[in-house]
Amino acid sequence: MTNKLNATYEPNTVEAKIYQKWEESGYFAPEAHQPRAGNPNSKKTFCIIMPPPNANGALHVGHALFVTLEDIMIRFQRMRGKITLWLPGADHAGFETQVVFDKKLEKEGKKRSDFSREELYQKIWDFTQENKKVMENQLRKLGASCDWSREKFTLDPDIVDKVEDTFIKLYEDGLIYRGNRIVNWCVKHQTTLSDLEIRYEERTDSLYYIKYGPLELATVRPETKFGDTAVAVNPKDKRYKHLIGKEIEFETLLGTAKMKVIADTAVDPAFGTGVIKVTPAHDPVDFDIGLRHQLEVRQVIDKTGRLNEKTGPYAGLKVAEARTKVAEDMKAKGLLIKIDPDYKHNVAVCYKCGNIVEPLVMPQWYVATTKLSRNQKSKIKNKNVGKSLRDMAVEAVKSKQIKIIPKKQENVFFHWMKSLKDWNISRQITWGIRIPAWFRNEQEIVVSKSKPEGDGWMQDPDVLDTWFSSGQWPFATLMTTGHQSRLNSKFKIQNSKFKIQN
Ligand SMILES: [Zn+2]
Repeated sequence: MTNKLNATYEPNTVEAKIYQKWEESGYFAPEAHQPRAGNPNSKKTFCIIMPPPNANGALHVGHALFVTLEDIMIRFQRMRGKITLWLPGADHAGFETQVVFDKKLEKEGKKRSDFSREELYQKIWDFTQENKKVMENQLRKLGASCDWSREKFTLDPDIVDKVEDTFIKLYEDGLIYRGNRIVNWCVKHQTTLSDLEIRYEERTDSLYYIKYGPLELATVRPETKFGDTAVAVNPKDKRYKHLIGKEIEFETLLGTAKMKVIADTAVDPAFGTGVIKVTPAHDPVDFDIGLRHQLEVRQVIDKTGRLNEKTGPYAGLKVAEARTKVAEDMKAKGLLIKIDPDYKHNVAVCYKCGNIVEPLVMPQWYVATTKLSRNQKSKIKNKNVGKSLRDMAVEAVKSKQIKIIPKKQENVFFHWMKSLKDWNISRQITWGIRIPAWFRNEQEIVVSKSKPEGDGWMQDPDVLDTWFSSGQWPFATLMTTGHQSRLNSKFKIQNSKFKIQN
């Protein structure tokens, strides 16, 4: 008896059954490995931790590409006789998912604030679990030969536990600290953003030349003048040498003001008149100048992007409205010299909504990248004491503990490391791993997984930047799976979520 093949291939009738057989056989798990006599690869391992797709929508063609490539690598090594592990997972994708969910709510005529924190968290949880199922089936349809018995989600309790351990360890080592520093604030999304979550766009704006007593200076943001706490010039600029260190008195929209003239190399003598106003509360460069010269940080814009009570009659106006009004009033008072309407400059915007990022000074948790690690609490000998996270990362690549392929990209990595700044890891959203820190009376802070003894403790309402946990994915997944066979300790990490973009 012969079975006739169909004239056309119909994957629907064949592939699901085959995949089911593969999966049921347990063949993709490293435990199924059969050493072959005489094969030198039999004891070697090969492992890829799948970069976990975001559990907030269906897979896209980019996922299909990486899954195909990784599947080829894994199958190739498996056929060569190596013990292989391809560990799949799904990413809760903090801010990304919250943005997708916000849009979903918007379509339903609802908003975040309609729900309690717990309700909102549960709703997003259910939303991601549904998406996760779709995504897992799509991976199966792609024929991915991953080990589903080890699948992890970035919010699995054991993963969260590891992430909290890391936070506590870094805090005890002095590498995580609470700092009142300038952050990137998205007025629409009501959260801070990392430097990687902002885009720069070239814009044409007006450059306002304004009078500060004996000085003239140029600014694109006259509305922030209420937060100025100094004027600055370049120390090498001969035009202003006689004024450095002196206090100038001048007329403003809110009466007479006195301000010190400081010298700082961050001032570009070629910009405008070579004099800048320093607003430490609302500009990252000015914030750093303020730190160097111990200037007062006077906040005049609030989290909703409006001017606050310190601006007198301008309080309540949105930044853009205030800019126009302030310029008009300065003109009427003879304080505005001229306007250059075609000033081209780069403006930082939120990578999701495109709104201009408002720099604000807020207390947040930071990962210190250049501070040296100390180890006061732990009695375990730690070879990294006295090194910064940057030192450790650079050393790992230089010593070939981590290989970057292709090698020429190493320089990109070293360049990143050189310009590394401290990383703000607090996010003012609900969806994510809540920061294991507790506050009492605005002064006491305890870093702990559980509520400290005594009354009045409140857990930090913020969650961790999703990359704080994603960065731990390679080891957190291996530490929380495969306990029975103890095979996990043999796997080296061949791949992780980190990629250097060309
Ligand atoms: Zn935004």
